[in-house]
Amino acid sequence: MKAVRFHEHGGVDKLRYEDAEPPKLTSPTDVIVELKAAALNHIDIWTRRGITGMEVELPHILGGDGAGIAVEVGAQVNNVKKGDAVCLYPASGCGACEFCLTDRDFMCIQLRVLGERLKGTYAEYVKLPGQNCLPIPPGFSFEEAAAFPLVFITVWRMLITNANLRPGEQVLVLGIGGGVATAALQVAKQIGAHVIVTSSSDEKLEMAKNWGADHGINYRKSDFAKEARALTGKRGVDVVVDCVGGEGWVKSLAALAKGGRLVTCGATAGASPQTDIRRIFWNHLSIFGSTLGSREEFRQVLSFLRNSQIRPIIDQLFPLKEAAAAQQRLERGEQFGKVVLQIGE
Ligand SMILES: [Zn+2]
Repeated sequence: MKAVRFHEHGGVDKLRYEDAEPPKLTSPTDVIVELKAAALNHIDIWTRRGITGMEVELPHILGGDGAGIAVEVGAQVNNVKKGDAVCLYPASGCGACEFCLTDRDFMCIQLRVLGERLKGTYAEYVKLPGQNCLPIPPGFSFEEAAAFPLVFITVWRMLITNANLRPGEQVLVLGIGGGVATAALQVAKQIGAHVIVTSSSDEKLEMAKNWGADHGINYRKSDFAKEARALTGKRGVDVVVDCVGGEGWVKSLAALAKGGRLVTCGATAGASPQTDIRRIFWNHLSIFGSTLGSREEFRQVLSFLRNSQIRPIIDQLFPLKEAAAAQQRLERGEQFGKVVLQIGE
């Protein structure tokens, strides 16, 4: 099969479009999927650079998001038939620990995620557990079905499960344009929240308004915490979605109303900001960290997408062999929504 692999860690020049051994069905609980699309995530870049602290077997295939057709189905798989169009839940655990036994595989110490410990979706075929294959929402293209899982599962867990976001609340989403931020905008608007977004690009702020954002703040031109407080009559916002970290972290805390919640799933601008702890207890703040979410949360996302008619925002499509150019777009922060690879066209 064709795949995009890297044989050593490094820059995008390490990505090679080449022939690779296709996966073989060796377990009766697994499925092999012929992929039609894969979507990019920042973790792909960290894994390629070798800075996640996680050992991967080389050569490695990146990609945690994908969609396609089940072409081989293990004898003990009951939820998928050969020929079904499926989207993928990317995580699986040991099956035996306290987390796996309570549908929280994504917290398992032996967590294996597509494109990280498992071979990923930048390929014509991928192997994964049958229980991780779910039907594509009606009317979704393969590209859309590949674009939503990681970011929507993560956003669902952060905003709905953890922050318990309610209609009418004020949400501040940092760094609009990234996959998590655009999904957060879509989910928050759909449930009736008031959404403020930030970016360094006026063009992205305009695009966000076209997707329903109520206000945009250019954080290069003004202090987003002060402006968020001004926009909320000095009260502050109920929830901040901060997957950026860095110097903005302190401002994220400053933007929150008393009793506010901050959710984080990334630190693209820096992982060790200075925090004034007093602000957290004085203001009764809660901070929720998460990565991914459970299969149950994935089922909730699928139901939400079916009922809301929301489609993930797709920034740009690239053929599989141009995965390097696609990753460059992500590395430069040029995207608004998901960057998607088309496979087998
Ligand atoms: Zn486990």
